[in-house]
Amino acid sequence: MLAILHPDTPLDSEEYRKTLSFLENLPGISIRVHEIQGAKQKLTEVYLLGDTKSLDKDDIAALPAVERVIRISEEYRILGRHKDTARQTGFSYNGVQFDQSNLHIFAGLCAVDTPEHVEIMMRALQQHGQVCTRMGAYKPRTNPYSFQGHGETCLPWVFELAGKYGIKVIAMEITHESHIEEIDRCLEKLGRPTGVMLQVGTRNTQNFELLKAIGRQRTYPVLLKRGFGITLNESLNAAEYLASEGNAKVIFCLRGMKAEGGQPHRNMVDFAHVPTVKRLTRMPVCVDPSHSVGSRERAPDGLLEVVHAAGQGVVAGANMVLVDFHPCPEKALVDGPQALLMDELEPFLADMALCHETWQKRNTLYQR
Ligand code: PEP
Ligand code: MN
Repeated sequence: MLAILHPDTPLDSEEYRKTLSFLENLPGISIRVHEIQGAKQKLTEVYLLGDTKSLDKDDIAALPAVERVIRISEEYRILGRHKDTARQTGFSYNGVQFDQSNLHIFAGLCAVDTPEHVEIMMRALQQHGQVCTRMGAYKPRTNPYSFQGHGETCLPWVFELAGKYGIKVIAMEITHESHIEEIDRCLEKLGRPTGVMLQVGTRNTQNFELLKAIGRQRTYPVLLKRGFGITLNESLNAAEYLASEGNAKVIFCLRGMKAEGGQPHRNMVDFAHVPTVKRLTRMPVCVDPSHSVGSRERAPDGLLEVVHAAGQGVVAGANMVLVDFHPCPEKALVDGPQALLMDELEPFLADMALCHETWQKRNTLYQR
């Protein structure tokens, strides 16, 4: 059972004290308090764990600090929506709001290579009013002899360039918990010129020890990729690992499934699950068209298939697009062939804005 407190209830108020003391003394019930900072208000949620079947929902709802009570199922206890359409979604980080109704584009390099390329990318993003990007420093590669990413050594100049061009959030994959410390130490040393969203790649979706380590820290939000060979339910449970350890600032990313049937795409595009994830959970949903489609094949209508896939995700209500760009793909160290080019940034951003607007208009069509 979940008791949602009135927004902005002070933790030192009499209402809060009375409510907590009642809940703490329920026999056979333990409680867990979660705080979510939204753009406008702070929400406190109290989870009642144990045998809650015998509890009367109305008794709990009558407590002075409680706004409403939801019976929650075992699945996705914290991140789940539990059929409550009014629940607050998302979070804000470093001045940027992420929720289930807005849209952010994270265009950038699959893998950080040279300062020149990173600077060209970030300058272009700033020129187009963007404050988010993707930059891979730690790359999980199929082949052990392939480039593994510059790792810790590139962080100082990547973060400094991000600060220079007003980038507020960098999606950066980590493959080991020590990388959190490396990123944190570097940002701290530089005076936090930018922010980082820790990305868990599809190969690590069920690396439970990594998930727990990332979940224990609350400084950085997380972008969790769907596992490419497991069910949606298994991937959503992986997200819940992060929240169960204390970090509920999670965005869920669809990136396609490994399946013969997906060919000639690199993966079977799974963006029909955008509304499904929004129905089942409170997480904002990201789509990654680059790693789903995996090429620059162009359809007869003139649009790249990767652009088509991105648009399909956004029209379906996606809240974030993670997309590979590169100023010089032939020199890219990872995934050059699927990267969009710098002169494609402006039309791509306009296209995604149009698709997001279409999603908003579609919603109104079906409202009675
Ligand atoms: C990536 O986004 O760089 C990446 C490696 O993606 P995925 O984990 O989805 O393969
Ligand atoms: Mn890649």
